[in-house]
Amino acid sequence: MTIPIIEVENVYKYYKQARKSFSDKNKYVKAVNGVSFSLYEGESFGLVGESGSGKSTLGQVILQLINQTSGTVKYRGKNVSTYTKKELKAWRKQVQIVFQNPYASLNPKKTIGWIMEEPLNIHRIGNKAFRRQRVMEVLEEVGLDHTFMDRYPHELSGGQRQRVAIASAIILEPEFMVIDEGVSALDVSVQAQILNLLKRLQRKYRLTYLFISHDLNVVQYFCDRIAVMYLGEIVEIGETEELGRSLKHPYTKALFSSILSLDESEELKLLDGNLPSLLEI
Ligand code: ADP
Ligand code: MG
Repeated sequence: MTIPIIEVENVYKYYKQARKSFSDKNKYVKAVNGVSFSLYEGESFGLVGESGSGKSTLGQVILQLINQTSGTVKYRGKNVSTYTKKELKAWRKQVQIVFQNPYASLNPKKTIGWIMEEPLNIHRIGNKAFRRQRVMEVLEEVGLDHTFMDRYPHELSGGQRQRVAIASAIILEPEFMVIDEGVSALDVSVQAQILNLLKRLQRKYRLTYLFISHDLNVVQYFCDRIAVMYLGEIVEIGETEELGRSLKHPYTKALFSSILSLDESEELKLLDGNLPSLLEI
């Protein structure tokens, strides 16, 4: 775990707030306020914090879906702001994002087969027969049979839609994925299935994950390292195993306290009940 795949250096993202009248001064929301960290190849890195703490903004800056106000994002040592158009397009194949609400991100008028083939079409990969084959293969990998090709998003359950979103993300065989609240909208038992699926895909495709969630329980289960965000800053960062033991910031103490205050048997019961099938990993 020594090669950084992502390096975030002193990144700020301020959003300008709409002015109520012309005489108002410009005001800014400091969504990300001086963040630095590195992500290493093959790890699952968790970004946890309450709603509005800047997690999604940071994830989108890392993928350059929005531009930072200042600071640098490097991918494999190269500043992503200096990519040429061609380099950017090639990089877009290597990095993917999965959002919380797959219903919003899946085109309701298109079949699952069409939706999944689209990234292959954009990047002009293979001929029609190859693309169809690849779509079926990947559908199977995420636990959906080929009959899903002809179905529409509204015909699917939340968990199935999230499987499709994950399938579309991995179809180009990326090396890095941002999962932004990827299981937050799902029932607890379905959450566990999707987390298991993500683990399986991580091994198969040697993926590195930036796993964003407001849910510390899920992050602790899924991630090797965790960064805690609070008001746009990373206030705590460390290995998952270690993090609970040496908390410095009052916010993270509060965040972890519900888990830390339980005695061990209670804790096990709680975690067991929450994420049963994780034991299958
Ligand atoms: P999180 O993902 O942790 O919930 P976000 O990154 O979505 O946090 O938001 C961080 C802060 O930035 C919040 O105060 C939010 O209201 C604000 N924000 C997010 N996106 C925008 C935007 N496009 N324009 C203005 N403010 C935004
Ligand atoms: Mg968010």
